[in-house]
Amino acid sequence: MNQSNKKNLEFIKNSGVNYFLQENPRKWFESESSSFSKSPKNINDGKLDKIQQVIKKINSFDTILKNSAKNLVVYDGNLDAKVMFIGEAPGKDEDIQGLPFIGKAGQLLNKMLAAIKLKREEVYITNVVNWRPPDNRTPSDDEILEFLPFLQEQIDIVNPDFIFLLGGVAAKAILSTPLALSKLRGSWHEYQSLKLNKKIYTIASYHPAFLLRSPKYKKASWEDLQMLQKKLNENN
Ligand code: URA
Repeated sequence: MNQSNKKNLEFIKNSGVNYFLQENPRKWFESESSSFSKSPKNINDGKLDKIQQVIKKINSFDTILKNSAKNLVVYDGNLDAKVMFIGEAPGKDEDIQGLPFIGKAGQLLNKMLAAIKLKREEVYITNVVNWRPPDNRTPSDDEILEFLPFLQEQIDIVNPDFIFLLGGVAAKAILSTPLALSKLRGSWHEYQSLKLNKKIYTIASYHPAFLLRSPKYKKASWEDLQMLQKKLNENN
């Protein structure tokens, strides 16, 4: 194989392609962010345009968090996902790479997904707040509210059947309650999308970073994940 063929093959592999022939020509340069290239499905073009509009809006939204963060972090995964996972805010690794949940907490999240036979590429992963708060502090209620419309827009675009909230900040934002996770977890809640005129089954459970610090809560987290798996199986 000559050098340029080798380079081509590398390029194709790096683009996430594990098959060669497909029905429609591939739009290689449709997305600029690596967030988009990892989806195994044919991305619905309408959704991609809409999500890019949201990303533009977040990017131009004036917030104090922008002063200290390096990169905007919006989403990873699949725009056609049945399940949406929502965390708190980007941490150090996410801020550097511009992708959610790729540090230690993200690695645990990948394992949690694998435990219920889900791949990262099959779900949509995002955060309540899209810029890293200084020193990883918890986002304030005002910051949660500032970013909430962008999160709601993402939910409306992806139109998932299930939402899995990772931690208290995501629970506060989406379920509009300050109740502790110990009270919220273990049962189904509903998120009402006004735009979709649809109620979305929602679970609130522990954040992977918390599970890394307090492994005794992993059992409860596993029960919550199994609740999701059961519903997904019923739904198929
Ligand atoms: N913690 C979060 O809540 N989100 C990330 O993306 C990473 C760590």
